[in-house]
This record gives sequence, structure tokens and C-alpha cells, in this order.
Amino acid sequence: MQVIELRSDTLTRPTPAMRRAMAEAPVGDDVFGEDPTVNRLEAMAAECTGKAAALLVPSGTMGNLVAQLTHCGRGCETILGDQSHVFYYEQGGAAALGGIHPRTIPNRPDGTLDLEATTAAIRPDDLHFPRTRLILLENTHNRCGGAPLTPAYVAAVGRLAAAHGLKLHVDGARIFNAAAALGVSVRELAAPADSISFCLSKGLAAPVGSLLCGSREFIAEARRNRKVLGGGMRQAGVIAAAGIVALTEMVDRLPEDHANARKLAEGLAEIAGVAVDPAGVRTNIVYFDVTRPDMDAQALARRMKASGVALLAAGPRRIRAVTHYQVSAGDIEAALSAFRRVLAGDA
Ligand SMILES: *Cc1c(COP(=O)(O)O)cnc(C)c1O
Repeated sequence: MQVIELRSDTLTRPTPAMRRAMAEAPVGDDVFGEDPTVNRLEAMAAECTGKAAALLVPSGTMGNLVAQLTHCGRGCETILGDQSHVFYYEQGGAAALGGIHPRTIPNRPDGTLDLEATTAAIRPDDLHFPRTRLILLENTHNRCGGAPLTPAYVAAVGRLAAAHGLKLHVDGARIFNAAAALGVSVRELAAPADSISFCLSKGLAAPVGSLLCGSREFIAEARRNRKVLGGGMRQAGVIAAAGIVALTEMVDRLPEDHANARKLAEGLAEIAGVAVDPAGVRTNIVYFDVTRPDMDAQALARRMKASGVALLAAGPRRIRAVTHYQVSAGDIEAALSAFRRVLAGDA
């Protein structure tokens, strides 16, 4: 049975064009700076984010960790959302490996941090306190339903950071989804940030890789930090080649994923036993709640899996569904039929 894979956009497999590009990529030793395909991908990433330089890293987690290590020293503090991927899903790596202290403030449902709360969290100069050094934003915001942060909001946080001598890092794992949803450029969304990371391996369908982008000096230091974390890669052009295809061929189709996510949410809103707010679906992520009292998220996900639809239980009653290029409009119709059957049946 062909499974409709809605657990994550990381489950996308490389396209035929990516496989060909990987097979044919000119390569060299990237630790020596001699891989032409990596160099080309890094130049493209710098260009599309409007930064002076970029660095290929194996994962989004490493991109965020390298960014924090590069901006902060031991004993420094970062301000970040309590629902952020960096705080929630990255093992507290900045604290564990970098001695960097996280200061969370609540994410609002739209993924933003309140500017007053952010300002209030900045430490005054006092020998009792760690030194605040960095603000982190996430765009789109995974745990806040894939919400895109607007250029105006990111710019306001950028001004706040600059006014207090802080740096701003954007975890832009899905920044191309944000740009597509808002009809703005990635460059505009990245402009207020000192650094931004984004993933090639999610909706853009590359098998591996993220880019960290920033100033030339920042990226030179980030390159050292990538190396100490074991992220120095040799003939990495083989993966960078797929990343180049991701940036050139896979960005313009993201609105299809957003339309499919919206269609899924609208369909679910018509089905008894689950609750969803379709208006809250702005990009490719749909969160919904299981309201049927005799079923929890695990039970529904298990029954849907048996009907050929893979979902992620994200809480006791919460389920996440993510659309991507291997999910067609027809698959959404088929998934909705499966939901209707399963939710009408016995638990
Ligand atoms: C996936 C993701 C990451 C980390 O990416 P990995 O490549 O899985 O390490 C970081 N931030 C956000 C918001 C993500 O969704």
C-alpha cells in the first residue's frame, strides 16, 4: 500500500533532477574550501538571504547551534520563545555544549514574542546576571501552526536588538514557506537579522543540509565552530548539488503545499471527531485536535496509518499533518476519505 506521508516535510525524497545533479557534481575537499559545488551553493544562499556569506551545515540543529556559539560566549544568555524549536527540540545544545543560558518568554499563538516582554527580559549590567547577547526568532513557527512572521515584526525585533546591542538570529528552517505565504522575498525577511539558517531538507526536498548565512566575519567564525562540532565535510558537493536543485527548482511550487494544507484543514473542519481552525493554516503545517472522547491522538494516528495515512501525534489529543511535494491534491482527497471512514467507525 502506498502511504500518504503527512508526518513531516523532512520525509520528502530527492527528485530525479537532484539524483542526477548529485551523480554529476564536481567536488573537492570542502574543509580546504575547494569544493566548487559547495562554494556555489553557499554563494546562492548568501545571495537569496541578502547576506555577505553562507555556510553549509549538515542539519538545521547544527545551524542554530553554530549560530549561538558564534554570537555568544559561555555564560551569555539568549532570549527565545518557549515553543521554539531551539528550546524544545535541540537537546538544549547551546547550554550543554556552549554554556549558553536560555531565557524563554512565551510564544504568542502567531509565533511572535511580545516586544515589551522581550525588552523586559534583557538583563541590566549587574554582576549577578548573565549577559544577554542574542534574540532568536523562528520563521515559520513550527509549534505555532507554521505561522509566518511578517517583515514588519522581524524588523521591529531587529531594531529592539540593535538598540540594546544584541544580535538577532532567525531559525528560518522554513523561511521559503514564510516568504511564499506572505508574498515577500526571503531577503526582506532576513534583512533585520544578523544571521539566518534555513533547511534544504524539508519542503525543498533535498536529502541533507542547511545553510547558515550572515556577515563575512560571522561566517568565518561559524566555519571554525562547525569544524569543532565535527561538521567539517569533505566532498560535500554531492549533497550541495541537491541543494542547488532545491533552491532553483523547488521554491516556486511551495504555494501548492500551502493550498493542500488549507484544503486538508477545511475538509477536517467538516468531520465530526476532530477540531481544527482552517483560518489558522497559513503554510504547510496543520495541527488539529482529536475531540472524539473514546480516541486519543495515538489511537487515531494508528488507525489512520492502517488506512494508509501517516500522521504525527504531537500531544495527547493533538496531531500534526505536514504537506510537501510528495503529497498531491488527490492525496488530500484520499486522506480526507480515510478520516471520514476512520472517525465514523469503532475506536
Ligand atoms: C526541522 C527544524 C529545525 C532543525 O532541523 P534538523 O535539520 O532536523 O536538525 C530547526 N528549526 C525548525 C523550526 C525546524 O522545523
